[in-house]
Amino acid sequence: MSDRRCEWPDCGRLAGRGWDVHGQCYCGPHYFPGLEKAFLEDYARWQGAGEPTDKFKNLFSRYIERLYPLGGMPERLSQRRIEERAMGWKKTPVGLEFFIERHLPVYRWGGVVKTVNQEWRFGLLTKDLVLLAQQDAAPRKLGVIATVTRSAAPAHSGVSR
Ligand SMILES: [Zn+2]
Repeated sequence: MSDRRCEWPDCGRLAGRGWDVHGQCYCGPHYFPGLEKAFLEDYARWQGAGEPTDKFKNLFSRYIERLYPLGGMPERLSQRRIEERAMGWKKTPVGLEFFIERHLPVYRWGGVVKTVNQEWRFGLLTKDLVLLAQQDAAPRKLGVIATVTRSAAPAHSGVSR
């Protein structure tokens, strides 16, 4: 058991395991405010030109995870997907935008996966994720994937991958 104290001003309760925000420890009730503060500070530091840091992506995705408890993010996004796969980050006056490649199931050819690019917006004030656009990713390449998957299907019968 750690005897570190919550670093939220004037708290002093024991910090909990797993409520660590890049070296800052918090108690349960202060984990979310601590995370939000760290995210907003990193957001303010991010120039918005080019990729944010890995730390920023980690803070942002954990923050979002807390805003949508119990795995309730729209379109079944997850903390890990956002942290590891979001691209094209853009800082905007109201928050930020990013792209993410998704592999959605299509119920043809015995369970082929369709690749799409989703464009998302996060609003700092509204604290929500909004799907702005979704496009099929590289349709020609997708055709090749579909052909390969189809011819490979008998070898993996029943496995939808
Ligand atoms: Zn506390």
